[in-house]
Amino acid sequence: MRDQLGRQIDYLRLSVTDRCNERCLYCMPPEGVPLVGHDDLLSFDEILTIVREAADLGIRYLRLTGGEPLLRRGIVPLVRELKAIPGIEGIGLTTNGLLLGAMAKELAGAGLNSVNVSLDTCDRELYRRITRTGDLPEVLRGIEAALAAGLAVKIDCVVLGIPEQRLTDVAALAKDRPIHVRFIELMPIGEGRRAFCPDDDLLDSCRYLPMAAVQETLESLCGPLTPVTDSLGFGPAVYRRAEGYAGCFGFIAAVSHRFCDRCNRVRLTSRGFLKTCLQYEAGEDLRAVLRAGHEPAVCRQRLREAFEKALREKPAAHHFSENDVPAGKDEAPADETAGMSAIGG
Ligand code: SAM
Ligand code: SF4
Repeated sequence: MRDQLGRQIDYLRLSVTDRCNERCLYCMPPEGVPLVGHDDLLSFDEILTIVREAADLGIRYLRLTGGEPLLRRGIVPLVRELKAIPGIEGIGLTTNGLLLGAMAKELAGAGLNSVNVSLDTCDRELYRRITRTGDLPEVLRGIEAALAAGLAVKIDCVVLGIPEQRLTDVAALAKDRPIHVRFIELMPIGEGRRAFCPDDDLLDSCRYLPMAAVQETLESLCGPLTPVTDSLGFGPAVYRRAEGYAGCFGFIAAVSHRFCDRCNRVRLTSRGFLKTCLQYEAGEDLRAVLRAGHEPAVCRQRLREAFEKALREKPAAHHFSENDVPAGKDEAPADETAGMSAIGG
């Protein structure tokens, strides 16, 4: 499946819920976000119908996300059914890790291949301040359980530009175990926009910090980092290795070095909107197609047409940074107003 710029699209991120048991300050306001009504959410049958068509069109990799995907009841059987769809080669899940300790084994048994655990600091008190509700030891237990269950584990650390975050402590998680630790630039999405306003007090002094600065900090701890050439994922991270570390470091410079020319993904929100770019509202309402009352064969045909239309109109690039020139600004779709918990990150 290729879009109008020839980019091969083989990766679908599925948000299964907008609900979350944390309130990360760059993602959600303290009171949370308005919840999606149960009838507005895609049912599992609807998700499976969409993924079957998507796989037939060329989607090979899925990632379950949210909100917090482990809060969606029935997530384990959903993984099992998704994995059984012909064409699907791998399923990952992005989680805050709070419920992973209890669920990792079952998820692995259902066919999940990997988990990305979001973890911005190894300091328990700061973790609580960043997530407003989370408990670091629970997350660390979740990581251990995932490794014990045989899941590939990555840590995703959003860089907040504050020294207390001690990125080198997070990096140390890659020292003795095959965990890849990835550092991600804070993006001007949802509450994260506030970190780009000079007079906002988001966690006192959180600020966007470019990846080049993060690499320098890591090199001061681990020595020179060397590029990793083997493929460690199907996403935009650039990986480097440090002497004596079992895991690698990944750098996701979404803002300072956008990688839109290599974009391989589309997103499906929990309400069934097929979203073709993180920054724009561009896409197609697949839930409307599913609920239009078509015969099954017509419904499948309409879903395929909606996928194809969405890809024809997939924006060329985001323009998160002021320096980016928006491509075709006059015709550009409206900017996304939803936060990451609704989009699926
Ligand atoms: N709740 C799960 C979790 O936290 O891993 C999955 C959903 S969360 C929206 C997915 C990812 O988006 C997390 O790694 C989170 O840190 C990241 N995220 C949320 N808001 C962000 C922002 N403004 N900039 C960069 N990353 C963000
Ligand atoms: Fe929840 Fe994930 Fe957003 Fe944090 S980043 S509030 S864990 S959805």
